[in-house]
Amino acid sequence: RNRPSVTIIGLGPMGQAMAAVFLDRGYEVTVWNRTAGKSDALAAKGAIKASSVDEAIAANDLIILSLTDYDAMYAILEQAARDLSGKVFVNLSSDTPEKAREAAKWLEARGARHLTGGVQVPPSGIGKAESSTYYSGTREVFDAHKKTLEVLTGADYRGEDPGLAALYYQIQMDMFWTSMLSYLHALSLAGANGLTAEQIRPYAIETMKSLPMFIEFYTPRIDAGEHPGDVDRLGMGVASVDHIVHTSKDAGIDASLPAAVLEVFKRGVANGQAGNSFTSLIEVFKKPAP
Ligand code: NDP
Repeated sequence: RNRPSVTIIGLGPMGQAMAAVFLDRGYEVTVWNRTAGKSDALAAKGAIKASSVDEAIAANDLIILSLTDYDAMYAILEQAARDLSGKVFVNLSSDTPEKAREAAKWLEARGARHLTGGVQVPPSGIGKAESSTYYSGTREVFDAHKKTLEVLTGADYRGEDPGLAALYYQIQMDMFWTSMLSYLHALSLAGANGLTAEQIRPYAIETMKSLPMFIEFYTPRIDAGEHPGDVDRLGMGVASVDHIVHTSKDAGIDASLPAAVLEVFKRGVANGQAGNSFTSLIEVFKKPAP
């Protein structure tokens, strides 16, 4: 057949967006989802609705998984009676690097190949070249399917270790969730003082936009293990975070997030780092909390 083709298993918001983009680009798209009704809108747009997992796998050698986690992959593939040999599974579900490594072994033992993916954009970013997804696994498998994967987003190959894409993804999500919760906490402080998210929007954006400058400045120092207190001192940081905790308490809101930050700062001080930069807190993070 002339048309390029692909199977997508998992039609949450992500899988839906992916299937729609492949259809738009002229791909023959076979879909399967546990809750069958989620295939209907795509079928109306031309997708082929597989009636079983086996049928979905048989339809193509390239199968994209977009599931909540890796356990969902086992739940689905363990019910497949058919042989998986020769199949390539591109797993765009998020999970730990360890889970990705296990999955690659599990599929290899069944004659199939695994590429780990970590999508860095929400569903609205699918189909845009400026979006990016981390990939890892066997290079030749990635190269063979790069063109198809680039229909979804830019493809950033991180290396052979199947855990790498998941690791880069988790590193990014570690920053994302903590940053976005700090934003929500700041908005609740604003709200308790009668300020709306809209009123804070330009200031929130400016604060977030200033972060790359700090990252650029501190990166070489962190890699060198140097945390001089020439531009900021941890002792100053403790006082600053303490003010946020108190401002939050005075506003009658939940102060647990800045209190957790304060606790980390205090552990740095207890380690004798008060005169060093707040970046010395990386030493606190290197060990599990006592
Ligand atoms: P959802 O959790 O909404 O999608 C869940 C999909 O997994 C559904 O198709 C669901 O089937 C299926 N599923 C879950 N458990 C099982 C199971 N035990 N057996 C069979 N099927 C199962 O996720 P999204 O679509 O939002 O995202 C997919 C992946 O992409 C996730 O890993 C997410 O972390 C990642 N991601 C999502 C982003 C986003 O903004 N949404 C951004 C970047 C990455 P059913 O419909 O039957 O419930």
